[in-house]
Amino acid sequence: MTQADMQALPTPRRIGGRTALAGVIGWPVAHSRSPLMHNFWLAQYGIDGAYVPLPVRPGAFDVAVRGLQAAGFRGTNVTIPHKEAAFRIVDRLDRSARRSGSVNTLVFAPDGAIEGYSTDGDGFVANVEAHGIAVTGGRALLLGAGGAARAIAASLLDRGVAVTIANRTAARAHELADAMRADAEAGAMVDVAPWDGLGTVLPGCDMLVNTTSVGMHGGPPGDLPVDLALATPALVVCDIVYVPRQTALLRTAAARGLRCVDGLGMLIHQARLGFRKWFGTDPVIGPEVEALLDADLRGEGS
Ligand code: NAP
Repeated sequence: MTQADMQALPTPRRIGGRTALAGVIGWPVAHSRSPLMHNFWLAQYGIDGAYVPLPVRPGAFDVAVRGLQAAGFRGTNVTIPHKEAAFRIVDRLDRSARRSGSVNTLVFAPDGAIEGYSTDGDGFVANVEAHGIAVTGGRALLLGAGGAARAIAASLLDRGVAVTIANRTAARAHELADAMRADAEAGAMVDVAPWDGLGTVLPGCDMLVNTTSVGMHGGPPGDLPVDLALATPALVVCDIVYVPRQTALLRTAAARGLRCVDGLGMLIHQARLGFRKWFGTDPVIGPEVEALLDADLRGEGS
C-alpha cells in the first residue's frame, strides 16, 4: 500500500484498554439521545471514552449490570423499564434516589460498590434556573404522578417550593403526596388537587409543570385539563416532554405571554452528573449540545 492509499483510509475511532466506558441500559433503547449527547461531550473535551446504548430485556437487568461492572465499565444510565430494578441493585443510594424511589444513574465505584443516583429532579431544576428563573419558594402545580413527577416533586420541595399534585388517577397522586410527606423535611408543603378541578388551584400557582406523557409525540391523545386564562401573568409553564419541544401546552402558554421552559434542557442537565462521575469532567452545558439534540429530534415530530 502506498502512503497515498494509507492516507485515503478512514481513521478508526481508537478504543483501547484505557478507554473509559459507560452507556444507557433500557428496553427499548434505540431511541435514546444519551449516546449522542455523551459522545459529543467526550469529543468536545478530548476524553478517551465511549458511551453506548445497551438494550437489556426486562428480567436481565441484574445479570447485565454485574457483567458490565465486571467488564470494567465506569457505570451506566438506566431508563424505562429498569429504574426500579436499578434502585434495588445498588449498594449505596444517594439521597436523590432515595427520595425518588428510582435510580437513573449507576456508578461502579473503585471499592466494588454500585452507587445509585436520581438526576431527573435536579436536572429539571437546573434547567429552569438556566432560563433565569429562580426556583425557591412559591407553589408549583405538578401534573402527573409517575416516575418523573416524583423526582421533580422531591427537588422542588428541597428548594422550599410547595407542591400541589394532580393526576388523572387520583390514588397515585395521593400515594406520591404521602411518600413526600413521609420525609419530615417536606412536611405539610404537599397537597393534592382533583384532576378535573384545577381551575381553582391554578390562579394561586407560580409554576405549572407537566410531567404526564400528554403532548408527547406518539403519546396519549387529548389535552391537559388546565385553562391558562386563569393563570397569573407571572406563571412559569414547564413541560418535561421534549418530543416535540413545543407542546400544545407550551404553545398556548407562549401565546398568552407566559414564560415557558421546554423539556430538552432537563434531558441535558440530568446527564451532567453521570458524565462527571464516569469521565471526570463536568461538562459545560452550552448551546452546541442543545443544537445537536434539537436537530436530531426534529426528525421525530419536533
Ligand atoms: P410514567 O411514570 O409512566 O408516568 C406517566 C404519567 O402520565 C402518569 O402520571 C399518568 O397518569 C400520566 N398519563 C398518561 N396518559 C395520560 C392521559 N391520557 N391523560 C392524563 N394523564 C396521563 O412516565 P414518566 O417516566 O414519569 O415520564 C412522563 C413523561 O416525562 C414522558 O413523556 C417522558 O418522556 C417525560 N420525561 C422527560 C424527561 C426529560 O429529561 N425531559 C425525563 C423523564 C421523563 P396515570 O397515573 O393516571 O396513568
